[in-house]
Amino acid sequence: MAEQAKQRAKLEKDLRSALSKNELQLFLQPQVDIDAQVVGAEALLRWYHPEQGWISPAEFIPIAEESGLIIEIGDWIIEQSCEILRSWSLGADTASLTLAINVSGRQFQQPDFVDKLCNAIQRYGINAQNLKLEITESLMLHDIEIVATKMHELTEVGVQFAIDDFGTGYSSLLYLAELPFETLKIDVQFVREMLHQKSTASIVQAIIQLAKSLNLSVIAEGVEEPEQRQFLMQLGCHTYQGYLFGRPVAVDEFNQTIRVIKTP
Ligand code: C2E
Ligand code: MG
Ligand code: MG
Ligand code: MG
Repeated sequence: MAEQAKQRAKLEKDLRSALSKNELQLFLQPQVDIDAQVVGAEALLRWYHPEQGWISPAEFIPIAEESGLIIEIGDWIIEQSCEILRSWSLGADTASLTLAINVSGRQFQQPDFVDKLCNAIQRYGINAQNLKLEITESLMLHDIEIVATKMHELTEVGVQFAIDDFGTGYSSLLYLAELPFETLKIDVQFVREMLHQKSTASIVQAIIQLAKSLNLSVIAEGVEEPEQRQFLMQLGCHTYQGYLFGRPVAVDEFNQTIRVIKTP
């Protein structure tokens, strides 16, 4: 326990200077359609620690949240993402791609979050329609009125919302119907189990049907095997993300792959 607390305190201290030392990086993972054509990407944060090597966001995002560092990091992610979209807007092959970014609860709850994001969209001159915010069900445990207001303000300017890790948290189906989501993401845990467990397959089927009847687009995460893609396709899920199509890679590498895929 003491050892754990020590390691955590050290990570928090190091995370404080990670931004200024350029140790954080956004990686991009492709999202593809039914023909395996890239339609967008999810931005996933990576931390290269000078002594410990790559540290998973699953490990350091909670620390960033608890310490409040997520605000500074979140601002940086917004800038980086807008810059990616600005450079994509200049290429015929990339102009229509969407970029999904993960927004943590604490970041979204900042009173000036909407202003900050709108300001960045304007400054970079990007099309807000190409930006998608992934939020999780945990956000809906907070003051739902405020969350709803912010979501509406942002959808007004064209920003889209995806509900991430759907079905793994504490969401109320009522919120799913009432909040302006465009996309529902099926969590990797469901995809991993669905071919081995009948009950999970039923849940996946129900989620896809629910999304369809609520007019939401649906994307499956963690697709690693052709059989998983096939199964999801048959159930009516036609957008995928996972190692089968591509791992998260550095932005330059992602952009090069796109060019290779799109040019004959
Ligand atoms: P998430 O948003 O649900 O991201 C999907 C996770 O699944 C990513 O883990 C991704 O690398 C992983 N993944 C993608 N394809 C596959 C696959 O085929 N198989 C398996 N087993 N996994 C796959 P990652 O990058 O470690 O991120 C973990 C979580 O950390 C994310 O879950 C997200 O909640 C959080 N996170 C990552 N980047 C950011 C960020 O910029 N801001 C915030 N607030 N949270 C972030
Ligand atoms: Mg996500
Ligand atoms: Mg997810
Ligand atoms: Mg997840």
